[in-house]
Amino acid sequence: MFDKIYEKIKEYDKIVLARHVGPDPDAMASTMGLRDSIKLTFPKKKVYAIGSGTQKFTYFGKLDKVDDTSDALLIVLDTPDIRRIDGAKLEDYKDVIKIDHHPFVDKFGKLEFIDDTSSSAAELVLEFINNTPLKMNKEIAGILYIGIVGDTNRFMFNVSNSRTFKNVTELLQNYKLEVNKLYENLYLRPIHEVKFEGYIGLNLTFTKNGVAYIKFTDSLLKEFHVDAASPGNMIGNFNFMEGVYVWVFFTEDVKNENIRVSARSRGPIINEILTHYNGGGHKYASGARIKTMDEADLIIKDFDLLCKKYKEENNLEN
Ligand code: AMP
Repeated sequence: MFDKIYEKIKEYDKIVLARHVGPDPDAMASTMGLRDSIKLTFPKKKVYAIGSGTQKFTYFGKLDKVDDTSDALLIVLDTPDIRRIDGAKLEDYKDVIKIDHHPFVDKFGKLEFIDDTSSSAAELVLEFINNTPLKMNKEIAGILYIGIVGDTNRFMFNVSNSRTFKNVTELLQNYKLEVNKLYENLYLRPIHEVKFEGYIGLNLTFTKNGVAYIKFTDSLLKEFHVDAASPGNMIGNFNFMEGVYVWVFFTEDVKNENIRVSARSRGPIINEILTHYNGGGHKYASGARIKTMDEADLIIKDFDLLCKKYKEENNLEN
């Protein structure tokens, strides 16, 4: 598959790279890393990384704007479903390729490279570059490293297996990455976000069977000077709560007129439940967009039941 995708890249003079709405470091890293590698390898090609920008991701480099795409190849990264592609309409492109590590949702690429055992889309891009004549440099290596670290939460999840460590070891050996600088990009945050995280810890609610949850209104977000994306970005910091197997944040998103749901698990499989609520994602890291807080209460109930079953099946006391 790598060869076929490489041949397509060779064939096209204009290539556009897209990812999912509400980007995270992996979505940014996989598109920007692949864009920069294609540019480095083929300086004459026009290569664009598109999608809405966020202030906090400026360290990945500049995003691009593209007009006429009728003769272009579109590569969609880190996105399993058509509805969540940010800023690209499939019908506007001559050819479409998908590179993704989510469980399969929609078929939309002529070529689809999907590996849901991979830690991140950035790791897939790294393997793609390593297995084709595509070039790499220290900047690209740093970008991909951040994507892998972001999606594995610093190699904490099971998705970071020996394959990930091998890939990362090679990156560190070959490009002498200064990881402390990279971590600063990824983790440095304003003091008001730190205070907001304190608020979350103090205000979580715990259900009988091991769900922790919290609901954020728009006025609360304003009080802490954070935006609707902030809670979702912090959910990974609440990983090891004794007696809690699933934790979920509900955030009012006034701009998009919905409620963002971010959920994480350290055992029960949660994406199957959120698929019923206009969502999806991975087994243990899943999200959704809902319309009302009543739906939030239904999700909490579903998760609570899921945890009950999980504990019974695994003979867990807590
Ligand atoms: P988040 O909590 O936003 O970081 O999302 C966790 C995972 O769920 C990611 O893999 C997202 O791609 C996926 N996800 C988030 N929101 C949605 C949604 N509305 N529909 C489908 N998948 C989603």
